[in-house]
Amino acid sequence: MSVKINVSEIFASNVFDDATMKQRLPKKIYAEFKNTLLEGKDLEPHVAEIIAHEMKEWAIEKGATHYTHWFQPLTNITAEKHDAFINPQKDGSILLSFSGKELIKGEPDGSSFPSGGIRATCEARGYTAWDCTSPAFIHEAPDSTPVLYIPTIFCSYTGEALDKKTPLLRSMEALSTQAMRIIKLFGDTTATKVVTSVGPEQEYFLVDKDTYDKRKDLIFTGRTLFGAPAPKGQELDDHYFGTIKERVLAYMTELNEELWKLGITAKTQHNEVAPAQHELAPIYDTTNIATDHNQLVMEIMKKVALRHNLVCLLHEKPFAGINGSGKHNNWSMSTDTGKNLLEPGDTPHSNKQFLLVLAAILKAVDDYAPLLRMSAATPGNDHRLGANEAPPAIISVFLGDQLEDVLSQLCEKGEATRSLEGSQLETGVSTVPRFSKDATDRNRTSPFAFTGNKFEFRMVGSSASIADPNIVLNTIVAETLGQAADILEKADDFELALHDLIKDWVTDHIRIIFNGDGYSDAWVEEAARRGLPNIKNTVDATSVLADPEVIKLFDKHGVFSAVEIAAREEVGYENYSKAINIEARTMIDMVKKEIIPAVMEYTTTVAKSVAAVKAVGADASVQEKVLKEITTELSKLDAAVVKLEAATDASVKIEEPKAQAIAYRDDVFAQFAEVREPADKLETLVDEKAWPFPTYAELLFNV
Ligand code: ADP
Ligand code: MG
Repeated sequence: MSVKINVSEIFASNVFDDATMKQRLPKKIYAEFKNTLLEGKDLEPHVAEIIAHEMKEWAIEKGATHYTHWFQPLTNITAEKHDAFINPQKDGSILLSFSGKELIKGEPDGSSFPSGGIRATCEARGYTAWDCTSPAFIHEAPDSTPVLYIPTIFCSYTGEALDKKTPLLRSMEALSTQAMRIIKLFGDTTATKVVTSVGPEQEYFLVDKDTYDKRKDLIFTGRTLFGAPAPKGQELDDHYFGTIKERVLAYMTELNEELWKLGITAKTQHNEVAPAQHELAPIYDTTNIATDHNQLVMEIMKKVALRHNLVCLLHEKPFAGINGSGKHNNWSMSTDTGKNLLEPGDTPHSNKQFLLVLAAILKAVDDYAPLLRMSAATPGNDHRLGANEAPPAIISVFLGDQLEDVLSQLCEKGEATRSLEGSQLETGVSTVPRFSKDATDRNRTSPFAFTGNKFEFRMVGSSASIADPNIVLNTIVAETLGQAADILEKADDFELALHDLIKDWVTDHIRIIFNGDGYSDAWVEEAARRGLPNIKNTVDATSVLADPEVIKLFDKHGVFSAVEIAAREEVGYENYSKAINIEARTMIDMVKKEIIPAVMEYTTTVAKSVAAVKAVGADASVQEKVLKEITTELSKLDAAVVKLEAATDASVKIEEPKAQAIAYRDDVFAQFAEVREPADKLETLVDEKAWPFPTYAELLFNV
């Protein structure tokens, strides 16, 4: 039986959105609220009071008993603490209430979230404050009463941001301020702000839960720490865009339904390159809402999977030897009147505003390449960036033939006078309708690619919040747009100054443009010649936050204070050390309690077989050979794990966060391969019935 979903009926049915507010709130209150949003002013207490009341009534109609201030600490996942609406009365009865104050402000203790030293545990006071730019919603779960979720920011008693949403909102404002200066220079008098939008394409793996439950590494670390390659991988290209299996499609159907109810525009679904890998893409939205939605997408992906006896893996590299998962961050900026600043039009060479914005983006990406790289750094992503599947760890920009041609005219002749046009597509099939091609082909290997009217930042990891990359993108582009405005606002001859600025910036930053194969070794060499940074791991990427230029940049635009940025640096090191520590402990545990005992048992069987065969005077050379190979690998494994344990014990004692992260990277992480190699070899030598946990073949091909 197929499933029927009335999409238009359920879409956003669990969201206290604009339409719901308009319908439920008194006209005057609704107008006051909209005004607050538009002008960014403080919400009047009487408005908050009425909104809170209506929000509660709406939630209760939907069965909710609790509300929660929902926030995004520095963990890449979200946090919530539920409070019931109950309010006991003097006569012993219960009233269900929710005040304006409760809507606007919360005070979770929350002293256990990473704060990078901003908050000592003894000074635990932290506040959540309503972010009224992202709508409240109802979260439903089987066998539970629904809960009203209120998106909030999370800060310390002294006002420092302890979350990802606060700096994201600040960066959106910073970008708007600077971009408005530019569009005013070009005569736009109607727009009042510039908004950044994001469409994040989310990759993920699905594995069977029973199989998953037998692997401690997947349970504790989200990735396999051991596993010999399966006989088949992704070499046949038969999974990418392949027919979706019915079990997976049933999962996607339920996932879509859940997301649509929350007003999340889940649009595209398909199989990805690796076996058991898939993708979901929503339609883009303003950065703040897109970030909230992506957090929900990740959370609901995991929850719905369990209902299908599946587990959704969001780790960047769950399996060695096949592709990992990323998240393409499609980014653009447009005015509140709907003009996309990244729309080149048919003749980009004559679109001066577009060329200026483009030059500013090239300059931003080149000037702050290490920072952009940092924004995609996670321990999981270290396995992808620079490997042969994801963009390299080197930041470069792909523009395509048309724009590159315009820019080279500018650099060579000082002026661009023509734009390449897209020709008709020649298929050689007369019955296929004719259409014209885009003026530019795509490049899948570029970390930062122009794709028509947006930039696609492809380095982001699948498990990461998209807040970090967008905070950085918004801030660095705000900076260069601001620099452009500083020059142009003072210019006596605007046209001349504009022409020179575009030409100078394009010439100065042409080195960041690369249209070739980003996966090739030749590019790594070429990039080094061009002086482009190649930051290979999270620890090095995190140290970019100590750069005085970076601190100045964030401070200037009010995105992070120096204190906040130092805290993020510390949290970066701590998160890295913790992740590697958990992986090391899991590895040691699996080797000592699972692999070595299983192999010992198996060697006993083989040894007995050698003795028995010899006893009857037959040839036992095969048995002896197998036994020798196994015992050789077993001693290698034992020696390697002893070293790993010593390195982990030493690293955990280091107190200074950066020194500790370096030790985890150079002494602990580096030792993983030494442990894994003999273990994986043993997997191929030992009877499969004797191996203590499911293999790659079972994990990747049994859904
Ligand atoms: P692909 O790059 O895989 O071919 P699409 O071009 O459809 O896919 O876009 C991928 C994502 O980019 C989607 O989430 C889409 O909504 C988003 N997107 C499209 N246009 C814009 C835009 N102007 N700004 C931001 N995101 C956009
Ligand atoms: Mg894409």
